[in-house]
Amino acid sequence: MSFSAVEIIRAKRDGHVLSGAQIDWVVDAYTRGAVAEEQMSALAMAILLRSMTGEETARWTAAMVASGETLDLGEVGRPTVDKHSTGGVGDKITLPLTPLIAACGAAVPQLSGRGLGHTGGTLDKLESIPGWRAQLSADEIRAQLIEVGAVVCAATDGLAPADRKLYALRDVTGTVESIPLIASSIMSKKIAEGVQSLVLDVKCGTGAFMKDQEQARALAEALVSIGRAHGVRTSALLTDMSVPLGRAAGNALEVTESLEVLRGGGPDDVVELTLALATEMLAHAGLSEVDPEEVLASGRAYETWCRMIAAQGGDPAAALPRADHTHVVAAPDDGVVTKLDAYAVGVAAWRLGAGRSRKEDVVQHGAGVLCLAKPGERVAKGDPLMELHTDTPDAVAGAVEALDGAIEISDGVGVPAPLVLDTVR
Ligand code: URA
Repeated sequence: MSFSAVEIIRAKRDGHVLSGAQIDWVVDAYTRGAVAEEQMSALAMAILLRSMTGEETARWTAAMVASGETLDLGEVGRPTVDKHSTGGVGDKITLPLTPLIAACGAAVPQLSGRGLGHTGGTLDKLESIPGWRAQLSADEIRAQLIEVGAVVCAATDGLAPADRKLYALRDVTGTVESIPLIASSIMSKKIAEGVQSLVLDVKCGTGAFMKDQEQARALAEALVSIGRAHGVRTSALLTDMSVPLGRAAGNALEVTESLEVLRGGGPDDVVELTLALATEMLAHAGLSEVDPEEVLASGRAYETWCRMIAAQGGDPAAALPRADHTHVVAAPDDGVVTKLDAYAVGVAAWRLGAGRSRKEDVVQHGAGVLCLAKPGERVAKGDPLMELHTDTPDAVAGAVEALDGAIEISDGVGVPAPLVLDTVR
């Protein structure tokens, strides 16, 4: 059936609910180029202002999934489960979590992205490992899932092409911040990945997309409801992102910290969140009897990491890139750190060269920020608070400026905020 794009735009502009057939048509026609960019941008703005019902959002997601191919994971022979994070500063959890879940007996196809702006991208982090390759074909993904149980790679071009086109349009038309559009964008890629279950890490705080808990909960509920409508067992953890996760923000620095976790050490918050997400994923996969803490301590997750990296051409034993230049930010006073702003640390890492402003930019693998003191920790005047790493020393002044006001030291007792704020099932 054919519709008029203008009538669909008018219907949404006037607050009406779109029919399933209208949604199927407009998403398909836009992907084919039969609905013009200016018409889709008007519709995206109407959706941002008028929203969509749960049913419309689920149908919009289905139409974006149908715009491309879906991975068939039927032959993998293990329960398939994935995790998606809405993104934050120092969020390297995919790195220890993916091999951990595989070592526990499930298969994890983690199709990830590159970073843009102040949050890092998983592929950028892994590309700091010499030889590691992000681009795999659908057959290579399936073969690695059978062989190793864990893959982290770039999404294949054929997955949800409607989302790729629409996301680029939303980015330049002020229509990113619509919960139905964000939720359908995230879920279309995850559903096309072909997994049986999914756990979402919806972050809230200064370093996250969603700044407050109410918005984060609304997004989590929208994501979970789309998953349920598509037969994917889905739940979401709401987690704090007002402070960077762990101590490292920046590609190779975060790989190093993830390796500490895989070897049984690492910062408490990274370990806590890895295990919280692992527990939820294993429950969905029917593997609740497996204790992820025990598997992490046994070294089996680290062995799986080495096999996962080697399967994609990487050398797990190779030295990681280090920046040419470091600069220390010292504590101005004695006291306890009571604030360390995630957004400011993310911007500083980005300015040091760890992130990109445009898709085409090249990242510096060794660049980033090491937070040597975190909330709740005592420092003396002159102690190193942060170490800035970069290959371009001219970038240091901009990074220091971004950190202005980001750290507070006081006489009081700093109580770190809880990390896992809630679960939406
Ligand atoms: N991430 C996505 O994949 N899509 C959005 O719309 C926002 C964040």
